[in-house]
Amino acid sequence: MNSSCTLDSPQTKSEYLNDVISKTMAKNPNEPEFLQAVKEVLSSLEPVVLKHETEYKDLALLERVVEPERIITFRVPWIDDNGKARVNRGFRVQFNGTLGPYKGGLRFHPTVNQSIMKFLGFEQIFKNALTCLPIGGGKGGSDFDPKGKSDNEIMRFCQSFMTELQKHIGQDVDVPAGDIGVGAREIGFLFGQYRRIKNNYEAGVLTGKGLDYGGSLARKEATGYGLIYFMREMLAANGLNLSGNTVIISGSGNVAIYAAEKALSYGAKVVAMSDSNGCIYDKDGIKLDIIKELKEVKRARIKEYLNHCPNAEYKENNGEIPAVYTIKADIVLPCATQNDITLAGAKALVENGAKAVGEGANMPCTNEAIEYFLKNNVLVAPGKAANAGGVATSALEMCQNSMRYFWSFDEVDKKLDGIMTNIFAETKKAAEVYGLGNNYVAGANIAAFRKIAKAMKSQGLI
Ligand code: NDP
Repeated sequence: MNSSCTLDSPQTKSEYLNDVISKTMAKNPNEPEFLQAVKEVLSSLEPVVLKHETEYKDLALLERVVEPERIITFRVPWIDDNGKARVNRGFRVQFNGTLGPYKGGLRFHPTVNQSIMKFLGFEQIFKNALTCLPIGGGKGGSDFDPKGKSDNEIMRFCQSFMTELQKHIGQDVDVPAGDIGVGAREIGFLFGQYRRIKNNYEAGVLTGKGLDYGGSLARKEATGYGLIYFMREMLAANGLNLSGNTVIISGSGNVAIYAAEKALSYGAKVVAMSDSNGCIYDKDGIKLDIIKELKEVKRARIKEYLNHCPNAEYKENNGEIPAVYTIKADIVLPCATQNDITLAGAKALVENGAKAVGEGANMPCTNEAIEYFLKNNVLVAPGKAANAGGVATSALEMCQNSMRYFWSFDEVDKKLDGIMTNIFAETKKAAEVYGLGNNYVAGANIAAFRKIAKAMKSQGLI
């Protein structure tokens, strides 16, 4: 789902903010996802900007925050299994390096374009700041579609992609990782080609590596587990908990699977998961082992779950609301892709009694959907904060690579839990300080922005 919400004129009380939003909209007219992300973040910064308006204006701080430091696009030629030459487009957006080397995943999906790369890179700046680890914001990828490709085709594509990308990355420069369509297999091929070209074992140049060559234990689980740690904190702060609640999850990839695993461990009942075609509904609770086998081993469609659990139901997507969001649940975890929950989806979920939404994916709710949830007292854990466990553990992977040492699964998992607990505390504090109640969407944006603004100010006009 890549259709964005409507982008009306900004209406904050800060003239400076309105001006920056308007100019960004005029400058990037063909980038709806990027504009959606900018508008969502900047509008929520109103109380902070009103306090520091002259200072930020003099430093052109917001104008610089919305402008990537660098965008690299490149051609990726490769040969398919029939010997036919193919060409894709590669991207790396090095958005903001104030807090550390650019850090953010690579997405391989046919919908990838500059708008999507920029929205993801922009979000990443704030997410990475929230982790309190020394990492800047970046993102990259390609419009290459890995679905249906052989391992050899994936390898040839990754080798060609890295042949160009290696000119622009390095363990102290820019450190990519996985995202949609890029998992351990792809990271392995990318790392191999980097090492071959550089003739240098620079383990920290990529994260999400295999455990046998510099990967971190718990990295695979980190985004999903981290989401649930954040949800645990958010629910507890509002007198709720996971135990005994029903959960629906969109997606059945890396984030979705490990969010489901951790939610189950806290006593929640996961009744639905999905892929881009439709969802399965198992009122007795999803058997996660079957999903793992289908998705992590066989790379099959989720519909095949019915071959193993004939009592479950399969609902095909048709219409504006993806089938998974038509199922009744207390807790909703969108873990697939952007703009998955539109206003119509939000209304259906509220009608069905949803109490909390946890964004495992990046920007899975449109701005209108978020507003609707908040107005209807549905708690929202914003992706920037709630899915930061992946990048945080990637930073822990870099740390282990630098030490030439590794931590046990439990050590990494404990650090991850601590980081997510702290992110929630910072988010909550910022929301309270600025009188925003339990609007954690604004709280996370403000907490992150204040860190970035301070560091950008210290580093001068660059
Ligand atoms: P995966 O590729 O492992 O899984 C993606 C899942 O989402 C699949 O089930 C896929 O279904 C589904 N999906 C993808 N595109 C669409 C679409 N257009 N419509 C409906 N469903 C779709 O990716 P991840 O789990 O790694 O990433 C999921 C989300 O989490 C993304 O937004 C990503 O940016 C975000 N994220 C990921 C992190 C990570 O560590 N991996 C870290 C932080 C955020 P199908 O197989 O049918 O395509």
